Amino acid sequence: MSNASWWTRAQAALPGGVNSPVRAFKSVPGDPVFFRRARGARFEDEDGRDYIDYCQSWGPMILGHADPGVQAAIEEAAAEGCSFGAPSRREVRLAEALLERLEVFERVRFVSSGTEAVMSAIRLARGFTGRDKIAKFAGCYHGHADHLLVEAGSGLATFGTPSSGGVPADFSRHTAVLPLADPEALEAFFAAHGDELACLIIEPVPANAGLLVQTPEYLQLCRDLTAKHGALLIFDEVITGFRVARGGARELFGITPDLATYGKIIGGGMPVGAYASSAEIMKHISPDGPVYQAGTLSGNPVAMAAGLATLEKIGRDGFYEDLERKTAKLATGLRAASAAAGVTASVVQLGSLFWTVFQDPAPVAVEQVDGDMSRYGALHRGLLERGVYLAPSGWEVGFVSSAHDDGDVEKTLSAVAEVLADF
Ligand code: PMP
Repeated sequence: MSNASWWTRAQAALPGGVNSPVRAFKSVPGDPVFFRRARGARFEDEDGRDYIDYCQSWGPMILGHADPGVQAAIEEAAAEGCSFGAPSRREVRLAEALLERLEVFERVRFVSSGTEAVMSAIRLARGFTGRDKIAKFAGCYHGHADHLLVEAGSGLATFGTPSSGGVPADFSRHTAVLPLADPEALEAFFAAHGDELACLIIEPVPANAGLLVQTPEYLQLCRDLTAKHGALLIFDEVITGFRVARGGARELFGITPDLATYGKIIGGGMPVGAYASSAEIMKHISPDGPVYQAGTLSGNPVAMAAGLATLEKIGRDGFYEDLERKTAKLATGLRAASAAAGVTASVVQLGSLFWTVFQDPAPVAVEQVDGDMSRYGALHRGLLERGVYLAPSGWEVGFVSSAHDDGDVEKTLSAVAEVLADF
């Protein structure tokens, strides 16, 4: 059956035809392609067409799709049973592997998604501090828990309003939304509300409204202000963890939060999330402490096996250097292609993350992003027709995996040159 027939069937069975909204191609022209199978940097759709994939399941597949070592680990674990709902050795091993690589944390709890990891970390921060209010940044995404689907209220230092239907205003009134890259606003907010705050949460490299790279000084200010006011700092490393460096953004910037959340890479493509902190903070979590958090499939042996196999491979010497070199080659080529075509664009790159945005200079806060994504839509469509798959929204970043090779990058760049020539 073709992409088109699956799409027709999907729309009759799934709301909007999908199980997660961006997949529906609402922000780019055309209909979604249906993945049939994927291996390495590439996937094949239901029409039998081949693509170089820069979405990589939104980040988990840092080794590329269906890595043989990860697949073997999954098969071995699945043969012993898919879920026990009881302690088993692989969750201990993955916890030890994470803690060893993250260095600064002493305990980690596994859940089944990034959303759950953040939701639980915030509950823990509230339980630990005895405070209700939390603060996040506009443009940072932390999953779809009620109190995080919030947009800024009017004026500085006010608490937010829901950004999704179905979220009671009462829930979001405990969440403040702050602008990124604005030290004065941050200081003013903490002066007014710092002592009521349970936590400040940030994506240390915001990667959900484009790639809005913050300065280390700004992250340090987040660290200093939270420490001064007795609030916890949470780094949401669901994307950046094991992506921007072995120890994630914490290692990259040398700034240690009180709590950090993980997902994506640590599950090797299986559903996993985690949150980590000191033994002192984590002892507030059930069963040791009063903050409840549980999960039928938490620490799932098959997911743990995939995570372990992934962590093992990305620990190899030179792994991150090679990934970064390829991504830099891609980003440099994208910049050159837009310059050659006379198209105004910025290509932001950090590690193996990249983002193409049709404005210059590159924005560092969501308010600075030109919301007209029509040129991104044209780039997306043109590349799709030439066998290159970018995330189906201009607000999303690209991911390079260790399975992408120089040939993939070169093929991508010649496709980009062709598409931009028509702009
Ligand atoms: N935090 C961040 C930074 C994310 O990028 C995401 C998802 N992309 C989440 C949390 C939520 O993770 P999940 O989709 O696994 O629930």
